[in-house]
Amino acid sequence: MMKNIPISFEFFPPKTADGIANLRKTREKLSVFKPEFFSVTFGAGGSTRDRTMETVFEMQAEGYNAAPHISCISSSKEEILELLVSYKKQGIKRLVALRGDVPSGLVSAGDFKYAAELVSFIRQETGDWFHLEVAAYPEVHPEARSAAKDLNSFKNKIDVGANSAITQYFYNADAYFKFVDDCIKLGINVPIVPGIMPIYNYTQLARFSDACGAEIPRWLRMRLEAYADDLPSLRAFGADVVSDLCSRLLSEGVPSLHFYTLNQAGVISNIINNVSSDFKT
Ligand SMILES: Cc1cc2nc3c(=O)[nH]c(=O)nc-3n(C[C@H](O)[C@H](O)[C@H](O)COP(=O)(O)OP(=O)(O)OC[C@H]3O[C@@H](n4cnc5c(N)ncnc54)[C@H](O)[C@@H]3O)c2cc1C
Repeated sequence: MMKNIPISFEFFPPKTADGIANLRKTREKLSVFKPEFFSVTFGAGGSTRDRTMETVFEMQAEGYNAAPHISCISSSKEEILELLVSYKKQGIKRLVALRGDVPSGLVSAGDFKYAAELVSFIRQETGDWFHLEVAAYPEVHPEARSAAKDLNSFKNKIDVGANSAITQYFYNADAYFKFVDDCIKLGINVPIVPGIMPIYNYTQLARFSDACGAEIPRWLRMRLEAYADDLPSLRAFGADVVSDLCSRLLSEGVPSLHFYTLNQAGVISNIINNVSSDFKT
């Protein structure tokens, strides 16, 4: 909890024994913040299917609420149904339902073209069993033909049964608040939770942001570039920037915060501690 609002953390499913051990330590460290749930990403096309499932079940066995991501691109209905049945049988109650990014060398597009079709299918097959999260894009999804069309696509996911949304990360709080205002005007009244990306490494962040359409404001790019290989200073500066972002989001009102952890606890713990102390005074 942070300022009495729930928080959640996102992980990727590790590949190696070291990665598995590291993730165990990371979630133990982050559990002190009493997260509402931990989520685990899913490689498009099912590339991490088993690892996502194993990671989620391990967390659940440790007593955490665990939410697997499911992406539908290049999967068949049968494959998705099999996953849903396994998760339901295991008592998983929350899913993050996505289209997924088109993997390179994709052979088959699968049975679903957009996330809304996946949401609809999950509702059709499992009723209200799952709480369904979907993705939202305050700075507009990179493939969208226009901001208005993207907003309508988002509305469609809610109309067919999603319960809440987590946003792509952003460093411009105004983009988030404007997006939420536009959603309210369209009659969308589900919680839209900001996705928060801590800053670990400039090159990686810049590459990822260019691909997913998240803007790094010019002033921030220039400041981060100047740290070059001085990672400790970059991370300290990045933690200040992201703490300020979280403080602003919390002071203007958000339903929750979702942290993209990249399976690391240190920077995020600093951010949460910074923000918690801001709100004690
Ligand atoms: C919180 C979060 C978690 C994520 N986790 C994962 C993960 O675990 N694995 C992974 O592979 N990816 C993940 N992603 C990335 C996501 O899969 C990509 O951003 C993907 O490109 C879009 O997925 P979506 O579910 O938003 O797709 P959609 O909602 O289907 O939208 C995709 C694009 O299609 C457009 N669109 C939608 N419907 C229509 C329509 N009917 N006609 C025309 N255009 C339409 C939208 O405007 C958008 O441009 C995550 C993203 C977020 C924000």
